[in-house]
Amino acid sequence: MSHHIEEMKAAHRLLAEFTYERYPVQRGYTNRTLYINLSDSTIASKPVSEEMKEKFTGGKGFGLWLLWHGIRDTTKWNDPENEIIISAGPIGGITTYPGTGKSLVVSLSPLTDSVMDCNVGGYFGPYLKFAGWDALEIQGKAEKDVIIFIDGDTGRITIEEAPLEPVDTHLLTDILVQMYGGDDHHARRAISTVTAGSGAEHTRFGCLNFSWYDLRRRAARVKQAGRGGIGTVFRDKRIKALVVKFSDLKADSNGPADLARLQRVGTKMHKEIHDYDDQQCGMRRHGTAYLVGIMNDYDLLPVHNFRYGSHPDGHKIDVRVWDARFTQGVPDGCWYGCTLSCSHAVDGFTLRTGPYKGQKVIVDGPEYENAAGLGANCGIFDPDYILEANFYCDTYALDTISIGTSIAFAMECYEMGIIDKRATGGLDLRFGNAEAAIEVIHQMGRGEGFGTIIGQGVRRMKKIFVEQYGADPKILQDIGMEAKGLEFSQYMPKESLAQQAGYGMASKGPQHDEAWLIFMDMVNNQIPTMEDKAEALHYFPIWRTWFGLCGLCKLPWNDIVPPDNALTDEPTKIPEHVRNYVEIFSAVTGRQVTSEDLLLMSERVYNFQRVFNLRMGFGTREHDKIPYRAQGPVTVEEYESRAERYDKQLKALGYDVEKMSTPEKVAALRAYREKQYEELMDAVYARRGWTRNGVPKVETLQRLGIDYPDVVEIVRRAGG
Ligand code: SF4
Repeated sequence: MSHHIEEMKAAHRLLAEFTYERYPVQRGYTNRTLYINLSDSTIASKPVSEEMKEKFTGGKGFGLWLLWHGIRDTTKWNDPENEIIISAGPIGGITTYPGTGKSLVVSLSPLTDSVMDCNVGGYFGPYLKFAGWDALEIQGKAEKDVIIFIDGDTGRITIEEAPLEPVDTHLLTDILVQMYGGDDHHARRAISTVTAGSGAEHTRFGCLNFSWYDLRRRAARVKQAGRGGIGTVFRDKRIKALVVKFSDLKADSNGPADLARLQRVGTKMHKEIHDYDDQQCGMRRHGTAYLVGIMNDYDLLPVHNFRYGSHPDGHKIDVRVWDARFTQGVPDGCWYGCTLSCSHAVDGFTLRTGPYKGQKVIVDGPEYENAAGLGANCGIFDPDYILEANFYCDTYALDTISIGTSIAFAMECYEMGIIDKRATGGLDLRFGNAEAAIEVIHQMGRGEGFGTIIGQGVRRMKKIFVEQYGADPKILQDIGMEAKGLEFSQYMPKESLAQQAGYGMASKGPQHDEAWLIFMDMVNNQIPTMEDKAEALHYFPIWRTWFGLCGLCKLPWNDIVPPDNALTDEPTKIPEHVRNYVEIFSAVTGRQVTSEDLLLMSERVYNFQRVFNLRMGFGTREHDKIPYRAQGPVTVEEYESRAERYDKQLKALGYDVEKMSTPEKVAALRAYREKQYEELMDAVYARRGWTRNGVPKVETLQRLGIDYPDVVEIVRRAGG
């Protein structure tokens, strides 16, 4: 350890210490959670009841359950009683099946003022469990910056005041793995950290960076719990870092009931990835960046704040460019045993701007969302800019999805004359101006200038532009790509009604991890009727919720499929992989389950999260609405850019388009599409067992076994 790091460590002041006996994990659970209150430096162990496991499974389910009991109806994101909960879920940490190391993070969000959840890679969640804890629940606020250290090797937990370490992730993570892991590179693999960065302090969309130590690179790398500003909550609590240490990882560390059964399923899946990934998505070679070109080809890549779905310069940021930049040319996984290994990186990238100008750094990614959001949606098709922005977003801890959508919105407002250089502090925020965009990101890191306004997110920017610059609220509502206060992720939903509802009805806001139905709906026409779409919007959000209960990555479910999948009855569900998950869950927990049982686990938590939104003052039909930019062309220019497509649709509806002006056509198409969206909401609510106002009915709660008195009371008050 360098002298410099020793000095930082010597400056730590011990605030609290807690020792415990570490038991082996039993069938995926440790049966206790760790509670920390930073206001009074409490550290305590809480039991996990059988009911908690039965009803909420783990991961996001545990997070929601603990948060529900930890806060009041009136709690705001920056109140001390707000919590950050991290949990791996019962399957999280097995090393025999790909994509099994995810941590689930839950908190109240500074963007939505309601409950938020994120699914993130890195080693923290599994190590936390193997260190003895099914979940970490942090409440309260520290007075000064602290590091929480969970030493699973010795059974000791400390809260330490830590004044000297820098905050930005790439520096801090590197220091912490040396400080707590020592000089041996193998020993450093036993360390995982959670950090935020300076941008999280000055915006509402701060993310959390979860680390793992990359032995080949001999460097720490990070994955992001990106959505909804949980990094902002983290810094508001004055947490500088969480550190967990666990040195004794083995194939049976998760205590599975039947290790041999687990290994059989895993071996089959590893072979499938080995044999077919190259022919299918090529995740091992390209990561998710392969999607840029495909989305551009299908008119689904958001360009200029979701005005358009493709751009002639799209090829400048497509997979060929990233393949040439990804350094090692070998698969990179974010947890042991993930043969799908999509976590690519660019090494030795020399920064051209900002406080770390001139440094050579590792850029994690870019992933699809980074290239699409930071690049195409802002009209920037410069790979060097995308890498630079990607790096700074990570080290400042800024959610690349929210930042891409927020900068794109500000750029459109600037081009429309809604704001000008007086508002932007002199920044020429035209689409395509990479120099201005990177300066916005640095301003978020420094906490100054127009960057901090953009850092409030689209919903609050709309309010500021109306109040301070006299903007028309209606046009801002139409083009501001947020719902529930969260910025849209980077898929163009205009031509897919099912995807529009997938975004609009998602519990936490418009993120694609609940329902990604664009291809099924628009490209492959597999769900043509309202009923088909409603069924998909019932099944897929519930199915995908299950990954978040168990600590799993969704990618190995459907980014690779068995070669005969198309011949099955329900190819969109990937039946063979669902059977794998049934096997895995049964083998880990010893509970012999069916695929229906897995869905029931998810449906329970899914409905509980809806009621949680109700409890916080949201969660009804009006909160499932989306801006019209997500549904169709807002402006004449947008309509005319795809006039052939839209005219054809109007003709099919019986309109005589030859006699209509473009504004008339825009209005007619809008009336039709908005009506369709309302009809689909009705169909989905009915399928889910909710009222027409989107409230789960009491009988639905009873069927799911979550008819607790306080839950029923909230639903009754909302008319359920
Ligand atoms: S598929 Fe990618 S994101 Fe998922 S666990 Fe594997 S490496 Fe991590």
